[in-house]
Amino acid sequence: MDSSSIIHKTAADLRLAPNLADYDAERRRFSWDAVSREFAYQPGGGLNIAWQAVDRHVWGGLRDKPAFRFLKPGRPGQVFSYGEMAGLTNRFCNVLRGLGVGKGERLFILANRIPELYIAALGSLKNGTVVSPLFSAFGPEPLATRINLGEGIVLVTTDSLYERKVAKWRGRMPSLKHILLVAEEGGTTNVPGTLDLASLMAQASEICELTPTTGEDMALLHFTSGTTGTPKGAVHVHGAAATHWATGHYALDLHAEDIFWCTADPGWVTGTSYGIIAPLLHGVTSIVDGGEFDAERWYGILQEEAVSVWYTAPTAIRMLMKAGGEIVKKYEFPRLRFVASVGEPLNPEAVWWGKQVLGLPIHDNWWQTETGGIMIANTPAFDIKPGSMGRPLPGIEAAIVQRQENGTVQVIDEPNREGELALKAGWPSMFRAYLHNEERYRTCFAGDWYLTGDLAQRDAEGYYWFVGRADDVIKSAGHLIGPFEVESALMEHPAVAEAGVIGKPDPTVGEVVKAFVSLKNGFEPSEALRMELLGHARKRLGAAIAPKEIDFLIQLPRTRSGKIMRRLLKARELGLPEGDTSTLEGGA
Ligand code: ATP
Ligand code: MG
Repeated sequence: MDSSSIIHKTAADLRLAPNLADYDAERRRFSWDAVSREFAYQPGGGLNIAWQAVDRHVWGGLRDKPAFRFLKPGRPGQVFSYGEMAGLTNRFCNVLRGLGVGKGERLFILANRIPELYIAALGSLKNGTVVSPLFSAFGPEPLATRINLGEGIVLVTTDSLYERKVAKWRGRMPSLKHILLVAEEGGTTNVPGTLDLASLMAQASEICELTPTTGEDMALLHFTSGTTGTPKGAVHVHGAAATHWATGHYALDLHAEDIFWCTADPGWVTGTSYGIIAPLLHGVTSIVDGGEFDAERWYGILQEEAVSVWYTAPTAIRMLMKAGGEIVKKYEFPRLRFVASVGEPLNPEAVWWGKQVLGLPIHDNWWQTETGGIMIANTPAFDIKPGSMGRPLPGIEAAIVQRQENGTVQVIDEPNREGELALKAGWPSMFRAYLHNEERYRTCFAGDWYLTGDLAQRDAEGYYWFVGRADDVIKSAGHLIGPFEVESALMEHPAVAEAGVIGKPDPTVGEVVKAFVSLKNGFEPSEALRMELLGHARKRLGAAIAPKEIDFLIQLPRTRSGKIMRRLLKARELGLPEGDTSTLEGGA
């Protein structure tokens, strides 16, 4: 890495004194016990995510402060203060009690990003009921699989989603006792076999005592994105709030006056940990957009809502890049001061795009459904090396390890060596189980270490560099090739919008590198362009690593959380079964 490609932090980049200024000192000083003291008070003791996220602020003087601003294309926005959220979530908690739903039982939510989703999630947590938010685009099959695995007792959904995805298949979800419906067009619903949520809420009291929960009680059930196979159900506890608070503080740099926009849907863990919990724990105002991606509208939201901290994903950034530079010129973002991204490796091109177009570099960070919160991040405290996911946050110990045949791992201390990324077990939001898959859970741990399944390197300054998922790494003529490196090189070409790289079995070299590429607006596939891209990649990467084949696709297959599904590119290329496609965007 040559130093000219480092983005140095300046006061202009930061604009505000950051929460994390001295990385090393803060890591030394840090303790999870100190973070837990944030949550020292709760009526009746214990720890409950929802009380800490909402009611604590009502007691602390933020009763009238907006907690959420819900936006919907073509409709007026809706604002809910912390005080209103406290009352509504109490009502929802009382609705569950009225139905006899108790602690530890599971509630699923199938809805777009509407206020009721947020109220139901937090209200359930107050009742000690476990919440599992699902993507509203799921069809009957993936819904039934997840509800059955989680033994869901309650489903909160809308009248129209119920009609389209649940009614006819209800017999396939035998654990469901109560279905609570929200009328999409407002008012009430009257559908046989279901209950109208608005009526129940109107009758319920606004006052409720919390069901006692401790930090170790199960709070959330989150399904992984399904990028590498069948999604797994990760179990999270109320104590995860400590990670949500700490990462909101260090990695997103949340300050009381921020307007925060997390673009993720709560069907993906990011949309819950950072679309609901972390910003509320910090008492900030969150924007929730109910619409789908649209470059113009998104720039408009950043401007109109005066967003100051923005948390998004590489897929969205690539789509904004693809939309071109003209659109953005119509907008200004004087309030925006910190931008972060998660979900996939963020190509250096994208980090620089942020600097050029938004005036701010994009801070990549890394975590998984299993980790519950951000683990490794580019923070305000240090320079950015574009292409690196940053350094472990205070409270997190990471390492590069090699699995041994006897089941233990060896830590690789030398820098710049490739191995599996591991985390010292025990941070508060670590998953406690894969639901009903004890065996799989156990294989994720070796001694003190949680093994992430991702390959990475650490450089001499402690920055981590993503290489690829262990499953995606390509073995070609004795080289181990991470798809990210090849994809990033292709992305440097002005015609390329996105790239997905796989290994294609080959009798001589093991696997050859094959790339699938979609083009930016204004470019058309052609033989000449293919040759040009092959040449560009060879120049950047050398013949051993550069792709031997490039195919053009209009769009790459991706998960609903926006991740390129390389396993699907590979299955299609080889004519093999596609496997679990429940999370495929555009699928049923
Ligand atoms: P599944 O486990 O079902 O295959 P998934 O791993 O995509 O799906 P998530 O938990 O949503 O499900 O994603 C976590 C994974 O996403 C990480 O293990 C890593 O491979 C990838 N990832 C997330 N953030 C980054 C990042 N900043 N850089 C590189 N990879 C990232
Ligand atoms: Mg995973």
